[in-house]
Amino acid sequence: MGARVLILGGTAEARALAAALHPAPALSVISSLAGRVADPRLPVGEVRIGGFGGAEGLARWLAEERIHAVVDATHPYAERMRVAAVAAAAAAGVPHLRLERPGWFAGPGDDWHRVTGFAAAVTVLPGLGSRAFLTTGRQRLDAFAGLRDMWFLARVVDEPGPLPANFTVLRGRGPYTVDGERALLDEHRIDVLVTKDSGGPLTVAKLVAARERGIPVLMIDRPAAAAGAAVVTTAEAAAEWVRQSVG
Ligand code: NAP
Repeated sequence: MGARVLILGGTAEARALAAALHPAPALSVISSLAGRVADPRLPVGEVRIGGFGGAEGLARWLAEERIHAVVDATHPYAERMRVAAVAAAAAAGVPHLRLERPGWFAGPGDDWHRVTGFAAAVTVLPGLGSRAFLTTGRQRLDAFAGLRDMWFLARVVDEPGPLPANFTVLRGRGPYTVDGERALLDEHRIDVLVTKDSGGPLTVAKLVAARERGIPVLMIDRPAAAAGAAVVTTAEAAAEWVRQSVG
């Protein structure tokens, strides 16, 4: 069977890593998804779906499944899994690596306002505009629901729960083009963009369109890194680490 590797996934980098390691006769790769999205993009190879039951559950799973190495390639804003992965790998005595794409950087012409967390974003937002394009995902839309004097265009992958009447929901999943994002900003008379610092090329077009239109960007900073994790930023580097870790 060869060495067994767990990729904690849900990102383009995780799928790229699974592809980079596939097929390898001496390696058995299992990608794990949380099961949050109804119709997830699947990586090549074996996939399991659903939580493990915290760090303890994951440590148990790693031991039972005789996993030799773990790559946590979850999203930069998946706060809990990164911490659980470090603890579980340590408890199970399994080498661990974090694969995380770099964040975005503001350049000439950008008007970015960085805040730490959603509560700060809600406080700052009304001072930046009144018609917001919200691209921060379905899970935290409720944070903005109290801003009754603003209008929101909320782009989400899956249908969210009930929202106030000042929200319009747009279903979508990247990659997006600058032409498409520019058209959205114009059509809805957007005057402020709210985004996470997700990084990567798939969803960067909105930032280019905002720059072109002179629209301010409210950028919610990344959560802190998990202590004690070695980090790489590309699937290629992670694949190399896997090969070396499992010999
Ligand atoms: P999270 O807050 O770190 O995780 C919440 C719980 O979901 C974890 O405690 C774990 O449950 C389970 N989980 C998370 N990632 C998992 C994985 N890859 N495999 C199995 N279980 C997983 O994460 P989240 O922000 O809810 O994100 C969930 C998933 O969506 C992740 O896979 C992430 O890569 C992906 N994603 C997140 C975002 C985002 O903005 N947060 C964006 C795009 C994709 P147990 O404690 O039961 O193990």
